[in-house]
Amino acid sequence: MSNPIRLVIFGRQGAGKGTQCVRLVERFGVAHISTGDMLRAAVTAETELGLKAKAVMDAGNLVGDDIMNGIVRERLDEDDANTTGFVLDGFPRTIAQAEALTQILGTRALHGAVNLDVPLEEVTARMMARGRADDTPDAITRRLELYESETRPVLEWFAARDLLVTVDGLGTEAEITERLFAAIAARV
Ligand code: AMP
Repeated sequence: MSNPIRLVIFGRQGAGKGTQCVRLVERFGVAHISTGDMLRAAVTAETELGLKAKAVMDAGNLVGDDIMNGIVRERLDEDDANTTGFVLDGFPRTIAQAEALTQILGTRALHGAVNLDVPLEEVTARMMARGRADDTPDAITRRLELYESETRPVLEWFAARDLLVTVDGLGTEAEITERLFAAIAARV
């Protein structure tokens, strides 16, 4: 069996990360670990976590670092994350989460952090057009603000560790997939 591949993917809300993660799973056989999906599942199941997280998510705010670090630690301890590896989507979003991730991974070094880069004006237009019930204009604005204030420094954090690769997220779905595959292949 091939060696596990460990990746993080970054991108603003509306950058097309979800779609591209499906391609990465097909191509590299990794587990897609999306903290947003995990939280939405908890909200639907009305677990204690879901009940706590719902209002925070609806407002476009960030769920607390301690909660998030705990969820990710448990998930990364599961077998698939260790055998096939993973693409971590939506985490880390703060410097505290990036530091927790380093600690959680221990000797399991990351191969890279991919930044799927789509300009702010473009994602804003896409999000407004999408008009999902949980995407109120205020929540969209808040998520994009927090991306700049909390998550941008995390990109710099990865860049300082020579792990960041930025991929142009404008173009057709297939073009972007090709760029991502090439960027990742160069790192594994
Ligand atoms: P996403 O689908 O990744 O955009 O996540 C949806 C929502 O879940 C976010 O707007 C946050 O409220 C919450 N969330 C997901 N991942 C995290 C994280 N790593 N830290 C804090 N909140 C998160």
